[in-house]
Amino acid sequence: MTNKKGCNEMSETQKLPLRKDVPADLTWDLTTIYQSDDQFEKDFVSVEKTLPSLKKLSGTLTQSAAALLTATETMLTAARKLEKVYVYAQLKNDQDTSEDSYQAMYAKAQALAAQFGAATAWFDPELLKLNDKQMTSYYEAQPKLRDYKRLYDQTFAKRTHILSNEVEEVLAGADDIFSSGEKTFGVLDNTDLSFPTVTDENGHQVQLSQGVYGILLESTNRDVRRQAFQKLYEVYSQFQHTLAATLTTNVKNHNFKANVRQYHSALEAALSSTEIPVKVYDNLISEVNKHLDLLHRYVALRKRILGVDELHMYDLYTPLIGGKSPKYTFDESKKVALDALQVMGPQYVNHVKEEFNNRWIDVVENRYKRSGGYSSGTYDTNPFILLNWKDNLDNLYTLIHETGHSMHSYYASHNQPYQYGDYSIFVAEIASTTNENILTDYLLDKFKDDDKMKRYILNYYLDGFKGTVFRQTQFAEFEQYIHEQDAKGQPLTANFLDNYYRQLNQKYYGESVISDKEIGLEWSRIPHFYYNFYVYQYATGFAAASTLADNIVNGDAEHVEKYLNYLKSGSSDTPINVMKKAGVDMTQPEYLEKAFRIFEERLDEFEKLF
Ligand SMILES: [Zn+2]
Repeated sequence: MTNKKGCNEMSETQKLPLRKDVPADLTWDLTTIYQSDDQFEKDFVSVEKTLPSLKKLSGTLTQSAAALLTATETMLTAARKLEKVYVYAQLKNDQDTSEDSYQAMYAKAQALAAQFGAATAWFDPELLKLNDKQMTSYYEAQPKLRDYKRLYDQTFAKRTHILSNEVEEVLAGADDIFSSGEKTFGVLDNTDLSFPTVTDENGHQVQLSQGVYGILLESTNRDVRRQAFQKLYEVYSQFQHTLAATLTTNVKNHNFKANVRQYHSALEAALSSTEIPVKVYDNLISEVNKHLDLLHRYVALRKRILGVDELHMYDLYTPLIGGKSPKYTFDESKKVALDALQVMGPQYVNHVKEEFNNRWIDVVENRYKRSGGYSSGTYDTNPFILLNWKDNLDNLYTLIHETGHSMHSYYASHNQPYQYGDYSIFVAEIASTTNENILTDYLLDKFKDDDKMKRYILNYYLDGFKGTVFRQTQFAEFEQYIHEQDAKGQPLTANFLDNYYRQLNQKYYGESVISDKEIGLEWSRIPHFYYNFYVYQYATGFAAASTLADNIVNGDAEHVEKYLNYLKSGSSDTPINVMKKAGVDMTQPEYLEKAFRIFEERLDEFEKLF
């Protein structure tokens, strides 16, 4: 299940239709999962009934190869059904979160998932009791076990970092305490902090929040942007010492666990859980640093186009092209997407048509529908997309982005057995942003003689690259630094964090932007700093996608073939090997260099248009 970052627009809730009034052809068809709620109930009960027998299998793995096979297959069969139950309840709940019966259904499914986790918690520790020699003899005795070899190997890879049973139990029991930094931050940030009101473009007083802040920062009215920026940071400034303490707790949690598990660093511990070598992270940071001059150039151009004497941090998100976004209705967007994706070959396009024609998408916003956009689904369902449609360019991009995720799910589940039919986040964002990059190429070509549209599209691309590659790497660099500093014994005080963050920000954006004192506090409000080395994947994903899209659009059919092989691979191999099959070696810096070359070309083109 993959999510694109949510976009909470200040919607006028009153005007939205109720769920029951949305035309059926604009809703997703969940009867393809279960004809009725009764069938959901049947599967639910059947999963529930297998839980005691799953628990009973505990202690059997070391007995025989046949026992390992039975346990593995019993567990996977239940997991597969559980996923279907879970997805159905989740999608039903998301389409109208005010509906009591589906709230209850979703809560039930979540509880069942937790029970399943508890009933199978013994599996990995018990598997780890089997040594290499035993596993070799198991594979010989029961060749069918080889179908699950990669699954087992992923657990065995952690072997040297697993501690004695007693220590593992203590660590697991203290997990709530370990995550208290993150929890306290969440409560403060989502509930207790209260923000003042700000005057918007139309002179209305609006209540500031994280979501509203993002929208106000894109305002073309500078006073609105400045006010939002200053007022937001006034609030965080009052709590900066508390927020430094919650972040410190979180960093110490990662460093402590990495240390007791004998990893070299918290970074290595986090990345090894997803089979990514640290080199991938290091390459990203060093390559982005080598190309910061491109971001400096873009920021300087921004200053020139906006015509301001001083460019402030609150001037970085407003579109450079005045006027409204080009209008794209949902029907037009589907046509554009199909046309742009022709380069993927007829088979891919046919699957996209299936998505468009068979109600795999929940299109319009209705009252109490979950905000944002995502692609979801599981092995035994088709992929589903949730949207909150608006007729603009951004939504066209969202449609093609989520379609990228959905096609990835489709190809993986149709070409892999259940155990390898899913994929990790590291490779997921590549499929979605490859589609985005293909769309950019397509639109730039289509509007090559239309300077106004070209400006709009290039601006959209450059801002996207800034936000995805540069900004997420800035976050990644900050994350790495604070973990290293804590490991060295440096106290992470608010003052220390402010100073470093402001310096880092200046390094990224360059001399054209004023180093506003408020920006030093940005670290205090970013929830991603609690995710444990997660955001770098947005940057690596977008950069890899730039290369892949360029290969597909400008290269021969062989590139499409390789790309489809990546989609078909699911999780049957490590993320790095899967991407190698697609033609990108993410342990090397070349793919990043190519992404920067494309960014530079488009920056040149954009510059010429002014
Ligand atoms: Zn995505």
